[in-house]
Amino acid sequence: MLPDSVLDRIAAELYDYQGSGQSVMEMSHRSPIFMDIFEKTKEHFRKSLSIPDTHEVLFLQGGATTQFAAIPLNLMKESADYAVTGNFSGIAAKEATKYGKIHICADTSDSNHTEIPEQSGINFSENPSYFHYCENNTIYGTQWNYVPTAPTTLVCDMSSNILSKPVDVSKFGMIYAGAQKNMAPAGLTVVIIDKKLAGNQAPSTPMMFNYEQQIKAGSMVNTPSCFPIYVLGLTLDWVDQMGGLAAMEERTRTRANKLYEIIDNSKLFTAPAKVSARSHMNVTFRGTTPELDKQFLEQANKQGLVNLAGHRVVGGMRASIYNAVPTEGVEKLGQLIAMFDK
Ligand code: PMP
Repeated sequence: MLPDSVLDRIAAELYDYQGSGQSVMEMSHRSPIFMDIFEKTKEHFRKSLSIPDTHEVLFLQGGATTQFAAIPLNLMKESADYAVTGNFSGIAAKEATKYGKIHICADTSDSNHTEIPEQSGINFSENPSYFHYCENNTIYGTQWNYVPTAPTTLVCDMSSNILSKPVDVSKFGMIYAGAQKNMAPAGLTVVIIDKKLAGNQAPSTPMMFNYEQQIKAGSMVNTPSCFPIYVLGLTLDWVDQMGGLAAMEERTRTRANKLYEIIDNSKLFTAPAKVSARSHMNVTFRGTTPELDKQFLEQANKQGLVNLAGHRVVGGMRASIYNAVPTEGVEKLGQLIAMFDK
């Protein structure tokens, strides 16, 4: 979802952005009016996440999936370590094997990705160029509740939980995220990268994937996704109105825990994720039978609670309670679970 206030501003400015006579969709990406939107959004993003001067922010395209290839092409000398804790970290690791030696230093497949490795359970290899992990596992509904310590550069996929809490960016060599969960419509991929990591790319690296070149070109090796960048700016205004990322974290945690409490107290539903690994963004749960899940989803749909079916690889239900989902909606879902159980 996008916040209502963001949609309202988009609607109000759609034909004529601030008296310019143009829609943001119609602007030249190099025009002063769009460059102003671009720079202000980037500055605002830096400020919201307290990004240190050591790190650059890039507004790229191709989704988080494109980064699965760009990361090894730019950062891997010979080998890298990957933790596989869900669908996307698995795809990231597989993609990276095309470019070098990948060591799977943790893998939660045996538990069907219902847990997150402990620090002591990560078996780092000798001299990896970086350690890649995905902080929130969108499909399985688990999250790393700590920032792992690694003997190398940390690279983290935060696609499904960025802007849901403050982050100590200085701990990471690189953080990346597709925009379409908590930031803006699809089409924008945000990369936060320690500048000293750029410039070591493989010679075959396509120019669109080349961090050094993108930094030099100010994310404009080609035309950026102007409209989602503009929407990100509006979303950041909304996050400020909500009290910033610390308030967002509190709100996110409270809402998720309330749902887990209701599920834990029910006789019909269970949350498969281990308590210490539960996601605050994607609450996965299931009924005692697939038939019950079907009935629950039908009932939920009738009440306007939509998109609750779990991903096809796991089934059951998944409440993706991203930032813009109103708390009222989360409460309504909780009431439905409790009522259904009764
Ligand atoms: N990583 C995570 C954690 C995701 O949730 C997703 C998308 N659901 C992706 C990567 C893939 O992102 P994209 O579709 O932007 O390539």
